[in-house]
Amino acid sequence: MMAEILSGKQMSEQLTQEQQERVAALRAQGIVPGLAVILAGENPASEIYVRNKKTMCDTIGVHSEVVRLPNDVSQEDLIAHVERLNQDPAIHGILVQLPLPEHLDEAAVLARVLPEKDVDGFHVVNAGKLFAGLPGVVPCTPKGILYMLHQAGIELKGKEAVVIGRSNIVGKPVAMLLLQEHCTVTICHSRTQNLKDVTRRADILVAAIGKPRFVTADMVKPGATVIDVGVNRVDGKVCGDVDFDAVKEVAGHLTPVPGGVGKMTISMLMENTLEAACRSAR
Ligand code: NAP
Repeated sequence: MMAEILSGKQMSEQLTQEQQERVAALRAQGIVPGLAVILAGENPASEIYVRNKKTMCDTIGVHSEVVRLPNDVSQEDLIAHVERLNQDPAIHGILVQLPLPEHLDEAAVLARVLPEKDVDGFHVVNAGKLFAGLPGVVPCTPKGILYMLHQAGIELKGKEAVVIGRSNIVGKPVAMLLLQEHCTVTICHSRTQNLKDVTRRADILVAAIGKPRFVTADMVKPGATVIDVGVNRVDGKVCGDVDFDAVKEVAGHLTPVPGGVGKMTISMLMENTLEAACRSAR
């Protein structure tokens, strides 16, 4: 069997076109969606992420503002910027680029972003809503994963889903979304015993670990849908958490890295920004 490759690149390009049209329609009504990104310190990876977000905003017509703060910015100064953006009617989404410099309290900063402007979906109010099955802002990567599964027409109801990884930004929220779709969900982590026995049960397998090519072909049930969230650098090249070449021989569907989930994450950030702009206009 040769897996069908789910191209996040293709799906995000199509979404970009749709979003351009939606922004044009909003602008015609006098609504200009706005996204602010706060970047504290000098982290080369963060610089790239922020640049990509800004480029995407420019492409679809979203107003964007990048607030650059020095490495030694104080917690109070950073929060003052968050508060200013909370009050700014031209800004509908606020994103604090993580990781923050070590001396800053990430949770305390994220808690100051207004939940309705929290386009990352990291605020505890939005996390709680997701847990309770209430409408709120859904984190971008998990939202993108569900978008890909829906677009590919993959049946979820009643299926066994296994998520490897229990982070607040990927593992836990994607597990909640799969549960809402009526999957039977298992979350695995570094203390899970007999991991392979668990993953081999999965009709849907999500790998969000951060270990290059960790998921090998013998961990995958033939025909399963495998979603690779990992972004790892090996010898200067980006690879996922899944051993792509081997797993594609076993899986039914597989996302590539690069060109998979990562592309959807940024599209979903735009989606959350447009939704926030529409909400604020109501
Ligand atoms: P994280 O916070 O480091 O969490 C990693 C998870 O993997 C933890 O829950 C950890 O378990 C688990 N784990 C580690 N070793 C394991 C093992 N041997 N067996 C089973 N589970 C194991 O990472 P994250 O933020 O969720 O990110 C995961 C990956 O996705 C990273 O490569 C990251 O760069 C990537 N990512 C990509 C996107 C995108 O847009 N494509 C977005 C976000 C993240 P414990 O909890 O027990 O430690």
